[in-house]
Amino acid sequence: MSSIAKNLEKVRQQIADTAVQSNRQSNEITLLAVSKTRPADDLRSAYEEGQRHFGENYLQESLEKIQSLSDLDICWHFIGPLQSNKTRTVAENFDWMHTVDRLKIAQRLSAQRPEQLAPLNICIQVNISNEDSKSGCSPEQVAELADQISQLPNISLRGLMAIPKASSDPKEQAEAFQKMRLLQLELQQSHPQLDTLSMGMSGDMNEAISAGSTIVRVGTAIFGPRPPKIASSDNH
Ligand SMILES: *Cc1c(COP(=O)(O)O)cnc(C)c1O
Repeated sequence: MSSIAKNLEKVRQQIADTAVQSNRQSNEITLLAVSKTRPADDLRSAYEEGQRHFGENYLQESLEKIQSLSDLDICWHFIGPLQSNKTRTVAENFDWMHTVDRLKIAQRLSAQRPEQLAPLNICIQVNISNEDSKSGCSPEQVAELADQISQLPNISLRGLMAIPKASSDPKEQAEAFQKMRLLQLELQQSHPQLDTLSMGMSGDMNEAISAGSTIVRVGTAIFGPRPPKIASSDNH
């Protein structure tokens, strides 16, 4: 069994165990395999083990993989920061976009989404730990942004996404995730279709699942430590 296959099995088991401990159904939680910096062959290996959702951060790199894996039935998620002049690439090539943090980006994605494709699924990124360096709107801005974005035609607002401040204290992580869950519950009063909370990574997925995450974004625990961005292709 390849290490990717073994790792996937472990991560799936971890999700299932944590779901049970949190009184949740494990099928409420989608595993998004974060494949940035990974060669297309690694994604293909994961696909052969039944993995269908992949998350990418860098546009050029992701386009090459989307092309070379076009024979597979993959659901592509964009999870990186996006400049507004690059929205077309996401609108034309992805199924999900997790990092919308202002109206202008959402407007452009809606206008540029090709008509023959289903609406682009969108999450609003929230800067839940109020970090200066982080993208994401403030928790106070979420409601207005959700009202505006939900009126756009070719996108489907699905929920919220966050990358809480890194912390070695699981309690601190758990609190950030619980804040996200409360934000989602508030929003659901006026937007009941917001069924998604994209939160939790390799190091904090248990806390995220306990708090109500519906998409965990997991890279390292599936593919191993990331190589430097310009990696030789013979390291797998
Ligand atoms: C890289 C990345 C991840 C995955 O992180 P791991 O610690 O490798 O699991 C998740 N979310 C985002 C937005 C990322 O950029």
